[in-house]
Amino acid sequence: MQNLRVNGDRLWESLMEMAKIGATEKGGNCRLALTDLDREGRDLFVGWCKDAGCTIKVDQMGNIFARRAGKDDSLPPVMTGSHLDTQPTGGKFDGVYGVLAGLEVIRTLNDLGIETDAPIEASVWTNEEGSRFAPAMVASGVFAGVFDLEYGHSRADLDGKTMGEELDRIGYKGSEPVGGREIRAFFEAHIEQGPILEAEEKTIGVVTGAQGQRWFEVTMTGAESHAGTTPMNRRKDALLGASKVVAAVNDIAMKHAPNAVTTVGLMQVSPNSRNTIPGEVFFAVDLRNPEDEALSAMAAELTEICEKVCSEDGLELDLKEIWYSPPIAFDADCVAAVRNGASSENFAHRDIISGAGHDACYISRVAPTGMIFVPCEDGISHNEVENATPEDLAAGCNVLLQAMVARATV
Ligand SMILES: [Zn+2]
Repeated sequence: MQNLRVNGDRLWESLMEMAKIGATEKGGNCRLALTDLDREGRDLFVGWCKDAGCTIKVDQMGNIFARRAGKDDSLPPVMTGSHLDTQPTGGKFDGVYGVLAGLEVIRTLNDLGIETDAPIEASVWTNEEGSRFAPAMVASGVFAGVFDLEYGHSRADLDGKTMGEELDRIGYKGSEPVGGREIRAFFEAHIEQGPILEAEEKTIGVVTGAQGQRWFEVTMTGAESHAGTTPMNRRKDALLGASKVVAAVNDIAMKHAPNAVTTVGLMQVSPNSRNTIPGEVFFAVDLRNPEDEALSAMAAELTEICEKVCSEDGLELDLKEIWYSPPIAFDADCVAAVRNGASSENFAHRDIISGAGHDACYISRVAPTGMIFVPCEDGISHNEVENATPEDLAAGCNVLLQAMVARATV
């Protein structure tokens, strides 16, 4: 399969054409899930796929599947895909690249007159970003049986409009059941959204899995009192206690370097008055690690430090774990197919773990799955300045083509 090559210019032109829909002044994209602009983007993709001879199916969560028949069309498909929705101030590549790379694979197979043994499908997953409707990746989650259909349809935006209503309104509530069918292999191509590949001058990230996450909510309660009249040794300062925990959370990541990351990104101080000692602080802790055992150890360390600080500072503690997503290891054969594709094309590559969630993470529960990362400028994503080079995007698409053809061969 050495001579299989996608048309990088055509891929780039398609990306730029799609980026016109919901284009923002600063060169980014705003195409929120299930808006009129999302419909326009979907229509454009579906039109392109029909022109490429695909049959289109849409399921009840609005997930789109464009299918190119295989020699043995009864075989489960080799599927690729990602999302067309963006953040409100998103870029042109996050998600869209994975969708249009799938289309480019199909167009290339057409150009070369190659018939794969198993059918090929390019997919679009509804509301990956979780920006308009929470949670993120809800439709691939329904497909993988993580959420039920009713839950998916009932997710509401800030105006109270539900996903079910909005799918109806834009004409993308399909009739196909969501999930429950076999997929031979699933691949998602995506920009890295981080700085590692660019810094190491690698063209391809062979994604071996995604890190696990544990989210906590912590409330520390002390006592409000006058900032001028309360002696230092009589205070129960909840913010002082929380600050010690914030520093300790950072230490937890350092202790479990290099793969752990920890963040306190949200804090509410009460009463938040400059001359009252803070009586109550609420904050959120985000712990991530690719190793489940280490992640559990990090959680235990968090509990220990919270208890220690509260007992020393005379504070009450309420610590709740609100979300646990275990680390994901992608399918060894799919990972190998990506690595082989990168090697055979002589692209500089390295194994990498995804720091972010992707539709592929949920799909990996129901199908053998792999992912391909390509570098993005300065590692920046979820930002209008998000950028990637046509050469890197074409390289990732070539690896996708190689991997899909390999896995579609009986
Ligand atoms: Zn994405």
